[in-house]
Amino acid sequence: MPEPLTPGELLALDRQHVWHPYGPMPGKAAPLLVESASGVRLRLAEPVDGQDELVDGMSSWWSAVHGYNHPVLNDAAHGQLERMSHVMFGGLTHEPAVRLAKRLVDISPEPLQHVFLADSGSVSVEVAVKMCLQYWRSLGKPRKQRLLTWRGGYHGDTWQPMSVCDPDGGMHELWQGALPRQIFADAPPAGFDAAPDEAYAAHLRELIGRHAEELAAVIVEPVVQGAGGMSFHSPAYLRVLREACDEHGVLLVFDEIATGFGRTGALFAAGHAGVAPDVMCLGKALTGGYLTLAATLCTTAVADGISRGALPVLAHGPTFMGNPLAAAVADASISLLLSQDWGQEVKRIESGLQNGLAPAADLPGVREVRVLGAIGVVQLDHEVDMAAATRAAVREGVWLRPFRDLIYTMPPYITGDDDVARICAAVCAAAREG
Ligand SMILES: *Cc1c(COP(=O)(O)O)cnc(C)c1O
Repeated sequence: MPEPLTPGELLALDRQHVWHPYGPMPGKAAPLLVESASGVRLRLAEPVDGQDELVDGMSSWWSAVHGYNHPVLNDAAHGQLERMSHVMFGGLTHEPAVRLAKRLVDISPEPLQHVFLADSGSVSVEVAVKMCLQYWRSLGKPRKQRLLTWRGGYHGDTWQPMSVCDPDGGMHELWQGALPRQIFADAPPAGFDAAPDEAYAAHLRELIGRHAEELAAVIVEPVVQGAGGMSFHSPAYLRVLREACDEHGVLLVFDEIATGFGRTGALFAAGHAGVAPDVMCLGKALTGGYLTLAATLCTTAVADGISRGALPVLAHGPTFMGNPLAAAVADASISLLLSQDWGQEVKRIESGLQNGLAPAADLPGVREVRVLGAIGVVQLDHEVDMAAATRAAVREGVWLRPFRDLIYTMPPYITGDDDVARICAAVCAAAREG
């Protein structure tokens, strides 16, 4: 065992050497030091504001749907670790990857039949884009290489995904001229239950029709736009996209990396609309938050198109493709999800969030409170003071990570009613002080 380091030493070394997400070097605010996590609680190495444990309101960015240190997922990991933690996927295969792929095909929309196991969400989006571009190249239409999306989206931090993130998010300004230029529709009108706006539907159809010659695919997050602004829209627009894409010969990609595995109340958000994409990306909750793994699924038409081209292969193959440890945990996580009435748990959390967040609507500085499935959002009319909001939540014994003008939560599905109420109290406190 290496010599133990004190919390103070760890934080000093962290500040000196370790990048954190979207951070400068050295970091601006000291992160909290987590020692372990179990159920819905993060245990801190030393108490902060009198709290030595925090209820996790974030599911570690949508992923830890079953909570932490879960016996079933631990068993799956231990069992697989003793067989093999990794083996290359070129020329070799193994039960965890095969089982997981078959299961993803079984539970996803019917036309999706083939699975590429990538190592992170962003990479799965890169693979999705490559599939679409390569499909059209194979069919002798190399001009079809641009993407269309609607504003307000987020698809990851690598190159192609960045090019379809919301252009007003700052990233585009930084990378102007460097990123591929994609085509942006207006953001979908807000509201899951809002009646579909005909003028907006016409705008989508017109844009897809006008650019069909150069469009490889339309890519969107269905129903919930996550890191681009935590907004919800009517599933009706997904049907509009499906129809317009079919009419004009454009592929449709659903990025379900955040929405997959029940978060919005449907197993996949596409289910709210009853439409299937040609390509679908999964990640985040895929392994129940245990390990990094993502998947790109596609239809047989897409797979056949690629495989009949001049270069009749999908030219992509990450070193850790199909990682057995991650695949075994993912399969166990999906089994665990499907073995329970997950829909009921998500509904239970939804009503807890609706009740608990309602008071936030009356706070000064709050623009809107919205809840869908196990997602609760309080949108402010100003940029959140991240340090003040986080501290307010910690004082309530809850871990939250606000961004921009948004204080939001997507708790693990195992979060009990008392803890949901506590999370809501913390969101309200953060909204008051942030
Ligand atoms: C998080 C996210 C990604 C990127 O996934 P990473 O694993 O962080 O690379 C892509 N799309 C959506 C919708 C996401 O929420």
